[in-house]
Amino acid sequence: CGIVGYIGKRQAYPILIKGLKRLEYRGYDSAGVGLINGSNQLNIYKAKGKVLNLEETAAQKDVSGCIGIAHTRWATHGEPCQANAHPHVSQSGNLALVHNGIIENYASLRDQLKEKGYTFQSSTDTEVLVQLIDYLQNSYQIDLLEAVQVALHRVIGAYAIAIIDKRTPGRIIAARKSSPLVIGVGNDEFFLASDATPIVEYTNQVVYLQDGDIAVLETGKPLKVVNLENELQP
Ligand code: GLU
Repeated sequence: CGIVGYIGKRQAYPILIKGLKRLEYRGYDSAGVGLINGSNQLNIYKAKGKVLNLEETAAQKDVSGCIGIAHTRWATHGEPCQANAHPHVSQSGNLALVHNGIIENYASLRDQLKEKGYTFQSSTDTEVLVQLIDYLQNSYQIDLLEAVQVALHRVIGAYAIAIIDKRTPGRIIAARKSSPLVIGVGNDEFFLASDATPIVEYTNQVVYLQDGDIAVLETGKPLKVVNLENELQP
């Protein structure tokens, strides 16, 4: 029900947790966070219930890293539990993804991916998205952005997503259709969230993504927004 993301020079975890708390008013049943640390390891922590439970789960664990995504979930497909909480991780272990919305054609996509040898760790509609992007990347040796674009062409439904790849830890890719997503542009850092409340204390440069937009948040580069056809958006 809420998404937060950060990439820049600061530690992401405290920003993500604070952001999730600012989105608490939207209501949720579980929460999770995914971070890439300085050794390019992807660390995922999830908990049923409050953001406070997530903090307890992550206490004493490695929450370091200057890039991360976080999520509060309002279950639509699959019961509220730790396995169904986001972020969802791809079979290769490279990708982590958070999603707000509903993937309507998830059942047929899941069947196709199962035929390709993919197994599923959750009963969510969301997990097909991260496995599909993983499959496309690995089968066609294409870049994450291109894989996201191809995957979103195949998806029917509503989404705000954010995705990270531990092999390219300087980049978050985010996209939206029929679910809100806001980007905050700071000084060599980016924030993203479902609404501006987690962002405004850090920067007043806020970009509201339009339906069909894909945002590339890359350290050391300006914000890039393209569409599914890879045309630059104004
Ligand atoms: N449909 C997804 C799920 O059930 C996302 C729900 C949400 O928007 O929080 O996991």
